[in-house]
Amino acid sequence: MRRLTLALIAAASLATPAFAQQGATPPVGPDWSKITVKTSDLGNRTYMLEGQGGNVTVAAGDDGIIMVDGQFAPMHDKLKAAIAAVSPQPIKFLVNTHHHGDHTGGNAAFTADGATVVGHVTERELLAKGSVSVTTGQPVPAVSGAGLPARTYTDTLTLEVKGRSALLKHPANAHTAGDTFAYFADANVLSTGDTVALGRYPTIDFLSGGSINGTIAAVESYIALTNDATKIVPGHGPLANKARLVEYHTLLVTTRDRMMKLIAEGKTLDEVYAAKPYADLDGKVGGAEGPAKNFIRAVYASLKG
Ligand SMILES: [Zn+2]
Repeated sequence: MRRLTLALIAAASLATPAFAQQGATPPVGPDWSKITVKTSDLGNRTYMLEGQGGNVTVAAGDDGIIMVDGQFAPMHDKLKAAIAAVSPQPIKFLVNTHHHGDHTGGNAAFTADGATVVGHVTERELLAKGSVSVTTGQPVPAVSGAGLPARTYTDTLTLEVKGRSALLKHPANAHTAGDTFAYFADANVLSTGDTVALGRYPTIDFLSGGSINGTIAAVESYIALTNDATKIVPGHGPLANKARLVEYHTLLVTTRDRMMKLIAEGKTLDEVYAAKPYADLDGKVGGAEGPAKNFIRAVYASLKG
């Protein structure tokens, strides 16, 4: 937790918070009745579900289902229906890739259905203590009871249902301090949570222990783990492959190295904003101004420490 405390102090000392009003938990919710769930078949009874919030992975076994992430609470019934359409088995495990509400909002409802929520020990802590949104600067209320993972782990954990298993691992201080990724070897599917976000600049939640270097290290471990046939379910954005992951890694390293240079030159955050260090990357990444600014701020804060 020491790094987390340091990150909070670093955040508080930044001159201009400049929180952009955009992110995973918009202050005004979408019209949930209009949202549909898209299911993509990844082979070997494994599926990617897209609705509102982080991407969901579903692995169906012979006596149960392992699910990765559960989006916002109002998505529960729609996700449940989409899962029932591909398997009659009950959801046995719901894995939280990290504590953000667009991935964990469904915890209590899926627990009520009989699922065991599984997350990293620090993820549970972040949920239980409450946090501050890195995208809006607003406090995020603490979660209790069935909203929290019932089962936690520290470094690695294998979850099993009959005929399927998921290897869970914890990459340190990446998107947050409590991240988990899941690898389904029998389907060659990797679920990264928000350590990988495509089609926009990634969010690095330095207020909850995330860092650019930890994110780069996580992506390097994915590159080592995967092959050209691996299907990669990112936290946000379309299904990806290893080549896309390598591209994403290059982007992260480029942004990190440019920022290190600016920090070495003694630039303040305002001077870094003014220098527009990633302007040439915006079009390629698909960045809107708000998230791009948040990304600059996160890279700066996590390197300045
Ligand atoms: Zn997130």
